[in-house]
Amino acid sequence: MQVYNLQKQNSVLNKFVSEIRDVKIQSDKMRFRRNIERIGEILGYELSKQLDYSIESIITPLGTTKIALPKEKVVICSILRAGLPLHTGLLNYFDQAENTFISAYRHYVSDTSFEIKVEYLASPSLEGKILILADPMLATGRSFINVYNSLKPMGKPKEVHIVSVIGAQPGIDKMNEELPPDVKLWIATVDPDLNEMGYIVPGLGDAGDLAFGTKLQH
Ligand code: URA
Repeated sequence: MQVYNLQKQNSVLNKFVSEIRDVKIQSDKMRFRRNIERIGEILGYELSKQLDYSIESIITPLGTTKIALPKEKVVICSILRAGLPLHTGLLNYFDQAENTFISAYRHYVSDTSFEIKVEYLASPSLEGKILILADPMLATGRSFINVYNSLKPMGKPKEVHIVSVIGAQPGIDKMNEELPPDVKLWIATVDPDLNEMGYIVPGLGDAGDLAFGTKLQH
């Protein structure tokens, strides 16, 4: 897996990341969702630089001009539910993309141990397309690996890009072992640790709850 960590260069992205982490700001749900969306826009813009382009002619009211435009079909796959604001940010820029939705959630078998359950899946064919997998929190890496494997019956994408906001280094290491080397990870920032509950430290807490409210465990 190739890792593109945008934290390595200072930019306005830092402001959005600081606001989703900050306990005094993150409780404003609308701002939290919008910041995740803005981060999705920036990550999408960065990954767009690596797509294939073809030269197209554009007719303006005063003449014609040529411009390189992305030539491949993009499918954005969001992992429900926390992936939705990130999905919106990506879709703002890849505005003609097709969309896949998949649910992956933690089913706790004890206080500290959980398995990832994948249940709902709605997807177009992925054959030959650019697949973008979106989930804001890359903690253990198990959700992304599970989702990557669950999508195999949908066809073989030409490229797979994983987009996430905060990654834990142990989870990135795990994905590096399990996913093919040509998969690309686009991430806004990387934290060092996971706690015993599998939450990213320092992280931001529960991204799904911050965006959409608390849920009952089942
Ligand atoms: N999911 C979250 O929302 N937060 C974490 O820290 C890990 C997984």
